[in-house]
Amino acid sequence: MVILKSLEEINYIRKSCKLAASTLNKLLENIKEGITTLELDRIAEDYIVKHGAKPAFKGYGTGKNKFQHSICVSINEEVVHGIPGKRRLREGDIVSIDIGTNLKGYYGDTAATVPVGKIDSREQKLLEVTKKSLFAGIEKAIIGNRLGDISFAIQKTVENFNFSVVREYVGHGVGCYLHEEPQIPNYGVPHTGLMLEEGMVLALEPMVNMGDYKTRLCNNGWTVVTEDGRRSAHFEHSIAITADGNEILTIL
Ligand code: MG
Repeated sequence: MVILKSLEEINYIRKSCKLAASTLNKLLENIKEGITTLELDRIAEDYIVKHGAKPAFKGYGTGKNKFQHSICVSINEEVVHGIPGKRRLREGDIVSIDIGTNLKGYYGDTAATVPVGKIDSREQKLLEVTKKSLFAGIEKAIIGNRLGDISFAIQKTVENFNFSVVREYVGHGVGCYLHEEPQIPNYGVPHTGLMLEEGMVLALEPMVNMGDYKTRLCNNGWTVVTEDGRRSAHFEHSIAITADGNEILTIL
């Protein structure tokens, strides 16, 4: 079931989303050669807690293998759900940071991928196109369109540049829980799927690969990598569909 949010609920969700966005900014300031991904995790957790919220990813999952950290950090061929640890960032890496916040029971979710120092022009293009595809999807997230219009806009943008969109992981509803219906694939057919309505709050999150779209789950049960070992990028915003368009909630 898709949970439609009232304006009052969106006000609360917006606060959580702004905190997710400012946490992400704080981390981007700290991304540099030599820092460990665990240090980034600590900075994020301290910042989120200091602002009266909880990191939404910490303790996420079912069974024994719950996610133990506050952010996902995915480097190079890692697509999503990378686990913070001792690994140090190196010049030429691309780093995706994904952050979820829970502020008074309302959730925000955002992600971005950035380079560490210099990367080559095709890798730079991968980052630009992934971000561009997110905004192409957001542009279609208006009343009267359907879910497939968002999915198709993302896929088309990506494939125009000969990159590929990951199939196994998708965007989602967000706000009252971290992950809600509907699932939002980053590929699809225009004019198909769920009708978009005022009060929907959606996390759009294209994951884009340099090579093939296929992925593999690592033995740690979380980290997703590209099957061909080539690089992958990820951008995410939480947005609300409003009476006259949409609002990007995870922008400051
Ligand atoms: Mg998400």
